[in-house]
Amino acid sequence: MTDFLALAQPGVQQLSPYVPGKPVDELARELDLDPASIVKLASNENPLGPSPKALEAIRAELAELTRYPDGNGFELKSRLAACCAVQVNQVTLGNGSNDILDLVARAYLAPGLNAVFSQYAFAVYPIATQAVGAQGKVVPAQDYGHDLEAMLVAIDENTRVVFIANPNNPTGTWFGPEALERFLSQVPSNVLVVLDEAYIEYAEGDELPDGLKYLARYDNLLVSRTFSKAYGLAALRVGYALSSAQIADVLNRVRQPFNVNSLALAAAYATLDDGDYLTQSRQLNDAGMAQLEVGLSALGLSWVPSKGNFIAVDFARDTAAINQALLRAGVIVRPVAGYGMPNFLRVSIGLPAENARFLEALAEVLRT
Ligand SMILES: *Cc1c(COP(=O)(O)O)cnc(C)c1O
Repeated sequence: MTDFLALAQPGVQQLSPYVPGKPVDELARELDLDPASIVKLASNENPLGPSPKALEAIRAELAELTRYPDGNGFELKSRLAACCAVQVNQVTLGNGSNDILDLVARAYLAPGLNAVFSQYAFAVYPIATQAVGAQGKVVPAQDYGHDLEAMLVAIDENTRVVFIANPNNPTGTWFGPEALERFLSQVPSNVLVVLDEAYIEYAEGDELPDGLKYLARYDNLLVSRTFSKAYGLAALRVGYALSSAQIADVLNRVRQPFNVNSLALAAAYATLDDGDYLTQSRQLNDAGMAQLEVGLSALGLSWVPSKGNFIAVDFARDTAAINQALLRAGVIVRPVAGYGMPNFLRVSIGLPAENARFLEALAEVLRT
């Protein structure tokens, strides 16, 4: 029989598939639990549920499902351009911001070229990079966060892209405006900096720079954002990039013609119109983070300080058994051994009752 793994391009052979948070229904099936009794704090989803305005917009769109969506996403792009104070031709829409990362890799990376990213950085960077036969250059982290100075040193003549996440997932670590400025001012102008701001709405005005402020000065900067996290639309898959018009034009050449579906376009637009939604998401997250920090300290645990909607908890020992015990208690969190952090579990911030349920289950697991 032909070995089709051996025929895959070498970068793909070396990849492991992305491991998502365990779905509620899967755990319910495995342990014969009532899905309603399960708490999932594993995928950094918004626990609020979608904006009512998004649901209304989706219902209005349903009758049009036989039609292709607007392949140019005109209305959403115009709306984003206005919000972000850029031109419409600087906006690229993606099937989730994951799609944006892939578009960048397909347009700018190839065998013989490399992308620089940090140890413990988001798992999609190596996947996007190796999928196109390019090499990932992993730079050791500093206190679990990006070491931007070391990343600068790692850039060589074959580097075309640097991926940086602020805040980063799964660590929640962040860097401030001075560090970003120092970094951008030293990256060679022919290297594209992808600043992944998937969680920025949770952290805005809070020691973190707003990547958009740097677009005018650095035409090698691309800022990627998503509707999956604070905007609560993870299932619909919609994200966007802001960059120079030229980079947006290049990404548009490799984009699938209808990469964002019509329900996602309508829901994203409507959520931007719901000013209260983002404020509520942010408040809920701040309160939940405080709740988890109090509960974790009471259990004598430490964690990596986080500006996201999740927290990486340090158990100072392998967490596989703790994770299994939490699953048996109907609580799904995220093991991060695949990220090289076997002693940690990443916990997403949930509703107050969900956070409490996690803390109670964890206390019980650690007692036994
Ligand atoms: C969740 C996440 C994304 C992308 O999510 P999409 O649902 O594809 O928009 C991108 N970057 C980071 C760091 C993330 O955690």
